[in-house]
Amino acid sequence: MTFHIVSLPGDGIGPEIMAGTLEVLASLSQKFHFDYEVSEHLMGGRAIDETGSPLPETTLAACQQADAVLLAAIGGPQWQYPTNRPEHGLLQLRKSLELFANIRPTRVSEHTVNLSPLKAEIVAATDLVIVRELTSGIYFGTPSHWDENGAVDTLNYAKNEIERIVHEAFKLAQQRRKKLTSVDKENVLSSSKLWRQTVDRIATQYPDVTVEHLLVDACSMHLLKRPTDFDVIVTENLFGDILSDEASMLPGSLGLSPSASFSESGPALYEPIHGSAPDIAGQNKANPFGMLLSLAMCLRMSVHRDDMATWLENAVDHLIAHKITTPDLGGQSTTNEIFEVLQSHIKEA
Ligand code: NAD
Repeated sequence: MTFHIVSLPGDGIGPEIMAGTLEVLASLSQKFHFDYEVSEHLMGGRAIDETGSPLPETTLAACQQADAVLLAAIGGPQWQYPTNRPEHGLLQLRKSLELFANIRPTRVSEHTVNLSPLKAEIVAATDLVIVRELTSGIYFGTPSHWDENGAVDTLNYAKNEIERIVHEAFKLAQQRRKKLTSVDKENVLSSSKLWRQTVDRIATQYPDVTVEHLLVDACSMHLLKRPTDFDVIVTENLFGDILSDEASMLPGSLGLSPSASFSESGPALYEPIHGSAPDIAGQNKANPFGMLLSLAMCLRMSVHRDDMATWLENAVDHLIAHKITTPDLGGQSTTNEIFEVLQSHIKEA
């Protein structure tokens, strides 16, 4: 059966890293006999310019009918409208597809250990996954409004929203090193008190998993001090956003980290964790590895082709090991050169 992928290249460096990634997918699919089709749709700032909406109805409908969605990045300084921003389209897409579970792995390999801003002896062999709740919390709470005299945001969590993400995190921990760190602000926030109580209650169903609770401020410090101690971290939407950007720097660049977002039954969405990097857009400098590794996650988790995913992950490791990287990782290659090298590897292998 043909696997249907929706591609959302978005803004800034998005189209640059998406185009080469889809060409890599085309070559890989020939090599591994994978039957798929891709349709490209507008989203983000370009969609506002062309249709007035950051998430046109045709784009949302295509995503709802897809087997998986690949998103590059959206946003940019030219779209700073208070009520109609590219980011609103992304929030609406996550909410509409009910993508409540955002999985963000961070791994420091022997090839990236010296690119880390931290000392090698602290980060070497870091291998952790942040499981971030993605469709609730302060990003979606109402009321939410501001004017020049004041502003309101609402942090709201229902018990079942906490339960479903916590179950996902426990199941993931069971497949890994069986350690779960739950992050909250239980000493201050009511939603965190419910969060912690829920984690403790669900923990009795996963007796093989060791649970640790950390306050978010302490966790942000421990991530820099003892990153190798972490296995799976589960947390709410805002804390997860901040901690996963912090964790993404452990292997040296925001441009390296992929992510996957899941609903209970619909299509999953795969995207690098970085934004549209307007400061380097159009300069052929964007690191495409986060996008390529997001494709690898899609191949493993939605297409169930471990062979293709592993090939792609090993190819990225190989390029980093041979210093074929963009300047953010200390290399001198352009985005296009990296895609060209990958294409020649696929043809040689
Ligand atoms: P950003 O992630 O775009 O960039 C932060 C820094 O990291 C910049 O210096 C950038 O050059 C660098 N960088 C990011 N990705 C890179 C890559 N692949 N290769 C090399 N360097 C890379 O964050 P920002 O500057 O805060 O945001 C820019 C825009 O992106 C904003 O409009 C923001 O809202 C949006 N954004 C979108 C997403 C998304 O699409 N999921 C995520 C975060 C931010």
